Amino acid sequence: MSSKFIKVATPQVGEEEIQAVVEAIKSGRYASGPRVEAFEEAFSKYVGTSYGVGVSTGTAALHIALEAFGIGKGDEVIVPPLTFFATVSAVLYLGAIPVFADIDEDNLCLSAESCRKVVTDKTKAIIPVHFAGAAARMDPIMELASEKGLIVIEDCAQAHGTMYNGRVVGSIGHAGAFSLFATKHITTGEGGIITTNDEEIAKICKMLRSHGMSDRDTHVRLAYNNRLNEIGAAMGLVQLTKLDDLNARRIANSEYILDEARKLPWANVPVAEGDMVHTYFWCPIMVKPDSGRTVEELKAHLDASGIGYRHRYVNPLYKQPVLKTLGLDYSDVFLPNAEKTVGQVLGLPNHPSLPEEDRERVVEVLKAF
Ligand SMILES: *Cc1c(COP(=O)(O)O)cnc(C)c1O
Repeated sequence: MSSKFIKVATPQVGEEEIQAVVEAIKSGRYASGPRVEAFEEAFSKYVGTSYGVGVSTGTAALHIALEAFGIGKGDEVIVPPLTFFATVSAVLYLGAIPVFADIDEDNLCLSAESCRKVVTDKTKAIIPVHFAGAAARMDPIMELASEKGLIVIEDCAQAHGTMYNGRVVGSIGHAGAFSLFATKHITTGEGGIITTNDEEIAKICKMLRSHGMSDRDTHVRLAYNNRLNEIGAAMGLVQLTKLDDLNARRIANSEYILDEARKLPWANVPVAEGDMVHTYFWCPIMVKPDSGRTVEELKAHLDASGIGYRHRYVNPLYKQPVLKTLGLDYSDVFLPNAEKTVGQVLGLPNHPSLPEEDRERVVEVLKAF
């Protein structure tokens, strides 16, 4: 058995991306141009929406999409407590108020039933996060939204290519927001993209990513510069052609490891029910609370065995200290499924280029715990 360290993730970039970036640089055009447009078209086609708007980050995609739908000061936006904080900060930057609802236990994504309990007459939007590559249950969320007149922005930053009931996520809500950050399923270095079928919203998003300009000399909205650039888009165009293949390998690695893990008495590996294709941004494993073992012990065991892992979102987001600095008080909020889950999920190595022998070693190490 080799004793080399097995990394949890590694870049999935090859000669084709390098060539495409070199060509972009040689073209002499670096800021938004034909490659950004081609990437927007290809990405939205992949997701199944009429429009794609490339932006600088996933956070900007969320922020701009919310703003385009008119979400602003005092509006309430329902978010899950188990996600990267950017889902929440996009809401906060607009002066809107994040309202936390609980997650479903099997897919760790926002629960429609829990959302229903926190809807008020100030609620304007819901942001379901497709957590770690799983799909949030969009049908009941969209039903609730249409009943109450709410906007749904899917946070797809961890779910490029994930499917729910035969549809690619990012095409189900009123808009989707993707990150193209270095560690995501595919990357442009830094970057993001908004997907939508709404022509008017796509138009506003394009204005909001670029100084709020309606034309070269007229600024009609206050907005940052949040554009995607040609070099990133060149990389993204190649990455997109590889996405299905990368996902297939991610899925195969994850299912192999998790199927073996399910046989172990201490392991808690929930099976998400329903028609979905999980793309495993993480290969998520938990330790059963009544097993006499803890996640800290599993971490120590993985450390000693040279296996990398992710251990993230160790607090429900309503406990983040920044919220208090904004005068928001969530001390009464207690969401049982989230409280039970945060800090308990580890992501195991499952990246597309994980060699079979390493995958096998991850399983052996889990068996030895
Ligand atoms: C990565 C991520 C973001 C933010 O994307 P950036 O490109 O880093 O700004 C937002 N939401 C979730 C769930 C993420 O994982």
